[in-house]
Amino acid sequence: MTATLLNGRELAKTMQEEINADVAAFKSAYGFAPTIAVLRAGEDPASVSYARAIEKAFGARRMGFALHTLPDSASQSEIVALVAKLNADANVHGIMVQEPLPKGIDEAIVKEALSPDKDVDGVHPVNAGRLSQVAPVGRPPMVGPFFVPATPAGGLEILKRFNVELKGKHAVVLGRSNIVGKPMAMLLLRENATVTLCHSLTADLPAVCRSGDILCAAVGRAQMIKGDWIKPGAVVIDFGVNFVGEQMAGDVDFAAAQEVAGMITPVPGGTGPMTNVMLMRNVIEAARRQAR
Ligand code: NDP
Repeated sequence: MTATLLNGRELAKTMQEEINADVAAFKSAYGFAPTIAVLRAGEDPASVSYARAIEKAFGARRMGFALHTLPDSASQSEIVALVAKLNADANVHGIMVQEPLPKGIDEAIVKEALSPDKDVDGVHPVNAGRLSQVAPVGRPPMVGPFFVPATPAGGLEILKRFNVELKGKHAVVLGRSNIVGKPMAMLLLRENATVTLCHSLTADLPAVCRSGDILCAAVGRAQMIKGDWIKPGAVVIDFGVNFVGEQMAGDVDFAAAQEVAGMITPVPGGTGPMTNVMLMRNVIEAARRQAR
């Protein structure tokens, strides 16, 4: 069997067109563009290039972007003061605080300083809490509005747009970070999948993976998930961004997995391109809520 490719790059292009229309409609209704502020303390190279990628993506959609930088020596109170200033700035609709923050900074305090209404990265405990408390689809939500981190939101969007049935399926998620694995598990649970969330201490990981109709990998270890860890016909979502030499590789051994899986995201070109698109969607949604 050769798996169907879940082409995130093509899907992201389609969604960029949808975003163009949303931005145009927003601008004609309110006279300004949905805008993100990115806050960085220090010059971590990956954060610098990610901020550039966000700037380019937002510029291409004619959305607003502002970068606020502080030196590596910035104190906790300086960072929190900048967050507070951005919270209060009516021209800023979404805020992203880049990680890693400098050594000695308590990330939890910085996250909690964000206004949940502007937390388009879904890292504030109010947003994470509402995601974990929201009722399953098909029932009244029972919680207020919230933002979901862009990467898992992109993974779910791929599953939905490729019409993957989630209800009643066994979804196995590898990795329990607050930014990818855990919210992905919550999203799948909300979609009425039965979810198993795995981590570094999970016993007999290959067997657990093999029981998944849907297998989502967010581990950060190149090609760790082998072909024989995959249930024949399963749908594989690979969030991994790793490098083997110069070559980008996912957490899944793609060549082997492709022969077993029913559908699979490639790396690159799968979940990666969806992340910025979902971030833009969150910023538009934040701007709409604030403009009302
Ligand atoms: P973290 O390092 O925060 O979390 C990794 C998770 O994997 C942890 O829960 C850890 O378990 C688990 N893990 C590590 N080693 C093993 C193992 N041998 N067996 C089982 N579980 C293991 O990573 P992130 O969630 O931030 O990122 C995961 C991947 O997704 C990375 O490759 C990252 O680059 C990528 N990523 C991709 C994005 C995109 O746009 N596509 C955006 C963000 C991240 P434990 O909790 O027990 O330590």
